Amino acid sequence: MSYPKLNVYKKKLSHNIKRLKEIFDEAGIQLVCVTKVFCADSSITPIYVEAGVETLGDSRIENLAKMKNLGIKRLLLRLPMISEAKEVVEHADISLNSELKTIRALAEAAKEAGKVHQIILMKDMGDLREGIFNEEDFLEAVAEIIKFSSIQLFGIGVNLTCYGGVIPDEQNLGGLLDMKKKAEQKFNIQIPIVSGGNSSSFYLLRDGRLPQGINQLRLGEAVVLGREAAYGEKIEGLYQDAFTLEAEIIELKEKPSIPIGQIGMDAFGNHPVFEDKGIRKRAIVAVGRQDAFASEMVPICSEIKILGQSSDHTILDVTEVITPLAVGDTVSFHLTYGSLLTLCTSQYVKKEMIE
Ligand SMILES: *Cc1c(COP(=O)(O)O)cnc(C)c1O
Repeated sequence: MSYPKLNVYKKKLSHNIKRLKEIFDEAGIQLVCVTKVFCADSSITPIYVEAGVETLGDSRIENLAKMKNLGIKRLLLRLPMISEAKEVVEHADISLNSELKTIRALAEAAKEAGKVHQIILMKDMGDLREGIFNEEDFLEAVAEIIKFSSIQLFGIGVNLTCYGGVIPDEQNLGGLLDMKKKAEQKFNIQIPIVSGGNSSSFYLLRDGRLPQGINQLRLGEAVVLGREAAYGEKIEGLYQDAFTLEAEIIELKEKPSIPIGQIGMDAFGNHPVFEDKGIRKRAIVAVGRQDAFASEMVPICSEIKILGQSSDHTILDVTEVITPLAVGDTVSFHLTYGSLLTLCTSQYVKKEMIE
């Protein structure tokens, strides 16, 4: 086995997907599962398909291309670049959009490919990432979109929490629903989908407060980490540890807790601060910032404390650990969304799929 290693517990992940799918099916809401946090790894995405998910979403075309043969609908989450319009039409059935110039390029590319590309038009409801901000601009965009024969206005959508931290509620999602009604009435059209956000919207569904008419949510974090992003709360009945990190101890020694000599700046330009706890037993594990930030790693053994980190080393205080450790042993960590993302992106981290 080689380390650092990302352990993927297939049964736990599958349980999370199936449980959420049940909740969504019961409420009549479409579940789009988001795969970007694990770079749509092809040993992981089939677990979603087996669990009955029909649409997978990702922010990168390269990741959607990997899902070509999964037999699911592919949704591009990040607004397309005009320069990738051809690839978008090839690898995504649906994309989220907010720019007419881009939609024109997609219409052109779809026409050339002999396809109809579906789009979800994004409305900014206050979080200030993507989406058309003003109602008039939104309706103007709809007016133009419905003229393209190679583009279908499949839905309207919103993203919340990711940038501005704005929590989804009856007000902002209600506003999105009003927008849909206005567009439908003004242009005498049907807009099938109202996509009400990401994992942070899940708590509304759980509490039975999701406004009637929101019929799709796009969940990444809630599925992979069993957490609901708006408050960072655990979702009851889901596993939070479907993914863990395992790193190998390369040094284990007793040392003072304060460095010897004049203290300047560390490797990243910070002034480190130390607390004198006397001589402590310290372990260095072979994983570093290039893989995951220490602030995003939680030792599973609660007696272990993270002391610090550089590019390729993470230094642990293992003084309180009861079972003796040795060089060559491994230490495991629970992960956050941020560390899972960087670990999956690091070429130095191997994955092991565990039953
Ligand atoms: C990443 C992303 C999601 C999923 O977000 P989670 O918080 O992981 O559920 C949904 N929609 C869009 C547009 C995204 O970029």
